[in-house]
Amino acid sequence: MLSVKEAQDKVLGCVLEISTVKVSILDSLSLVLAEDLISKEDIPLFDNSAMDGYAVRVEDVKGADESCAVRLTLLSEDISAGEVPTQKISPGYCILIMTGAPIPENCNAVVMKEYTVKDGESILVFKECTEGENIRYRGEDIKRGDMVLRKGKKILPADIGIMASLGVSKILINRPPVVGIIATGDELLEIDKKLEVGKVRDSNSYSLSAQLKEMGIEYIRYGIVKDERKVLEEKILEALSESNILLLSGGVSMGDYDFVKETLIGIGAELVFWRVNQKPGKPLAFLKYGDKFIFGLPGNPVSVMVCFEMYVRPLIKKMMGYNDLFRPSLRARASHDFKNKIGRTNFARVILDKKDDEYFFRSTGIQGSGILTSMVKADGIAVFPEDAGDIKKDSEVEVFLLKG
Ligand code: AMP
Ligand code: MG
Repeated sequence: MLSVKEAQDKVLGCVLEISTVKVSILDSLSLVLAEDLISKEDIPLFDNSAMDGYAVRVEDVKGADESCAVRLTLLSEDISAGEVPTQKISPGYCILIMTGAPIPENCNAVVMKEYTVKDGESILVFKECTEGENIRYRGEDIKRGDMVLRKGKKILPADIGIMASLGVSKILINRPPVVGIIATGDELLEIDKKLEVGKVRDSNSYSLSAQLKEMGIEYIRYGIVKDERKVLEEKILEALSESNILLLSGGVSMGDYDFVKETLIGIGAELVFWRVNQKPGKPLAFLKYGDKFIFGLPGNPVSVMVCFEMYVRPLIKKMMGYNDLFRPSLRARASHDFKNKIGRTNFARVILDKKDDEYFFRSTGIQGSGILTSMVKADGIAVFPEDAGDIKKDSEVEVFLLKG
């Protein structure tokens, strides 16, 4: 049986062709930029006011303070945002200006309205200004020719704001895979159905959809399929015609009705591996079908989610063009003893506590692969290595962080 590392290497060692596609900037959120974004403009394009106030000449307001105001003549024009000033400021004059409006010629500061009093046709200024005060200069944010966003970067909300301010409505990204999801099992109910003995509601297709949604990945839900070879085969073929990755849950163990693996092999998929020396998720199957990838995920709700974290998510990240494929992790120490069988990797769901500069982990409670609340409570997945055996209080292991 493969070790976790060997299985991950097999998944991540697959040859991938990353294609690119232009999308509307809002559709690029959380995806990877496939081109450099170089500015063709200065942003802002013109010197403008950072405040509502009066555009003045620094020389004219020298010496002004709370006890000694300087009087300036107010020009009749006022400049609101979006307008272009038509007058320049001569010595002894000022002009009313709003935030974002272009600075008139000869003016080298804006005095905030709060430091002035209007007196008929003139303005009393109670504060000196320094050169450039409350002026936002042309190109101070971005200069023409600046490399604003670099190829390979994860696109975040501020990046989309920058694209918009540079007039870029579409952007080239690495095309993320489309993922199909099929839940298999005769016992599965749709989530709006009443529970009855022998049945469980299909939660796996929902946790998987949510894990994909969290990554910004498009998914197609193919619903619940019974443990019947023919129906399963039809649904798999349909899903493979529309998806780059297919996730199946259930039906990959040793049970008499576990047909997923043989059905996949039957349609010509190549079995890369079946079974990994891990808990939960031992019966995991990974197959290739042309340039498509198929995961046969064990049906237990925790196994599904943990296998997604450890195998599916890293592959998707690789297909998206990321270098960092795994969740962030940290070293943490056990707050208590953990019983742990030697000879297989154990992915324990844990709660993290920070004491001083150190992290400690404790169990979320019972750790069965059907205990989905263990995933709800978990801050992370602690990896107990194959050769570890019981984990003694204070021993240190790697914990992958699930949240935040
Ligand atoms: P299997 O891998 O098909 O043997 O299923 C293992 C366990 O996971 C069984 O107890 C199933 O009832 C449960 N299970 C399978 N599929 C789902 C699902 N979609 N949602 C919730 N539980 C499931
Ligand atoms: Mg089943």
